[in-house]
This record gives sequence, structure tokens and C-alpha cells, in this order.
Amino acid sequence: MLQQTRVDQATPYYERFINRFPDVRSLAEADLDEVLRLWEGLGYYSRARNMHKAARRIVEHHDSKFPDTYDEIIALQGIGPYTAAAVASIAFNEPWAAVDGNVIRVISRLYGIGEDVRLASTRKRIARKADELLDRVRPGDFNQAMMELGATVCTPKTPACSRCPFQNSCHAWQHDRISHYPFKSPAKKRPHFHIATGVIRDDQGHVLIARRPENVLLGSLWEFPGGKQEPGESLSGAVRRELREELGVDVTVDQEPFEVIQHAYSHFTITLHAFFASLADGSAPPKSQNGQPFRWVSAHELTNFAFPKANRKITETLVKYDAEQ
Ligand code: SF4
Repeated sequence: MLQQTRVDQATPYYERFINRFPDVRSLAEADLDEVLRLWEGLGYYSRARNMHKAARRIVEHHDSKFPDTYDEIIALQGIGPYTAAAVASIAFNEPWAAVDGNVIRVISRLYGIGEDVRLASTRKRIARKADELLDRVRPGDFNQAMMELGATVCTPKTPACSRCPFQNSCHAWQHDRISHYPFKSPAKKRPHFHIATGVIRDDQGHVLIARRPENVLLGSLWEFPGGKQEPGESLSGAVRRELREELGVDVTVDQEPFEVIQHAYSHFTITLHAFFASLADGSAPPKSQNGQPFRWVSAHELTNFAFPKANRKITETLVKYDAEQ
């Protein structure tokens, strides 16, 4: 939770999560929907899905106890080399070097490694150096010391070299080139997409929501069906096409969206245009074309489902409309 979110924002999420899932077994036994609902708003939903899967693996393969070797830890869903090395070394004294952003900075300066740290080859080279340096008797202390050195002494902008224990052997300091390390190529500009989404209402005022596939961005969350506007296509045309492709229905779509939402993801930004739609006369009933479940729900039931942030704004508007009627 804390990896992308400030402590004060994450704390209420953490407390709700721990109250509901006080141990690994309760998390493993929970429905994914409930886990995602408690996570909703934190973003990076694959973390919640992975934690849920990892809990199940720990219950099934490790008798509900967190595994204590690097190989078993890294086999858990959602755990990569950094987390596995940090947990294995700090909690179980296994000799693995943990390489985070702080350690990358320290090592690139210490050894004058000037290649782009976005490249996997550079990161591998730095990881090898960290492994050479690792104290194999106290790997956990070593890893924490390196992280602390990067966080408190060898800081990104003005490192406190005069109190650094490595000053005499530091390449960057000796050559007065501290600002050259680490080198990171500029990030690519994030593309922007227009997404058109259709809120289909039936005669009873229920709306149709569909579940996203598990293996995509925002996987397993619920949404109003729709998708990317294609070149030369109107937004309402995009809604009609998407709903035909996803649900096999013909719909009539309002001329104007009732809500327009801007949202930024880590690798792209979107404008989400939400339109009211209804099944056209003679349309076939909705039938999922990709095997993903869909449901008709009332406005007040929308709070029971986990939605991505931009879609949640639509549900809030629908609840407001419903209350006004
Ligand atoms: Fe970082 Fe300065 Fe220490 Fe080199 S001497 S590792 S640049 S703090």
C-alpha cells in the first residue's frame, strides 16, 4: 500500500484491510471482489489480486506460514527480486542483496556506472556489484544500511559526502562528477486516449456493469462497458461499436455525454466520456461476447462492487441522479 501512496492516505485502507483480514487464512478464503473493494482507491490493483493469490499459495503450500527462503518467497505472486531479497535477508538472514532506487544511486556513484539505469543490463550490472559487496554474515543489516545510506546521505540532489563512509573510494566524488550518476534517460511522454463508455439503463432503472478480464490493466474490477475511440469515429459511435463487440447488442446513445472525466495512469492518460444508452428496438438481449460476466444492478448496489477510480465517479453521479428522482 505504501509503495505509491502516502502514509496518511494509506493508513485507513491498511486498518480496514487488517481488521477484515487479520491473518493469511482469512485473506485466502475471501472473495476477490471483497479484496478489490477494500483496495479500491489505492490503484495498482494487480497488487491486491497478487496478494490474494499469494495468500492462497501460502495456505495451500506452506501450511499458512510465510515461507523463509528466497526461492519460495519469489515464487509468491507479486513478489519480485527486490522484495524477495529484502524479506529473505532481513527476516531470514538469507544472503541476497536487495537493490532498490537508493541502492542503484549509491552503487552507480561508487563505481562510476554511467549507463542508463532504465536498461535491464545496467540494473543487472549494479545488482552484481551489490552482491559482491554484500555482507554474507549480516545480509539484512547490510541491505538496510545501503538503503539508509541512499535515503539519508547519498541523496539524489545534494549528497552529504563529507559524512559518507565510502568517500575515499567513491568514483563520483573523486572525479567530481556526482551529478552525472545515476544516468536515467528521459521518460517517454504518456499517450492520451479518449474512452467512450455506455451506461445502459433498463425500464426498472437498473444499469449494466461488466467485469474486466483478470489479466488486463484494472483486471477483475467492474466497469461500464466501452473502450477506446478509433480514428474517424464519433464518441457515441465508439459506444455503439464497443457495446456490439462486448455484449452483442444494438443501442441508442445520447448525443452528449452526461459526464466527462480526466484520469491519469502511470503510462497514459485518458478522457472518459460517459453516455447514457438504451437497448434499441429489436436488439438481441446482452450476451457476453468474451466470456466476462455482466450484471444489472440498481444505483445503490453499485457500492458493493469494486470499480476503477474514473468509473467510480460515474457510479457516484448515478447514485446522485437516483436520489434526485
Ligand atoms: Fe554518495 Fe558522496 Fe558517498 Fe559517493 S561519497 S557514495 S556520492 S555520498
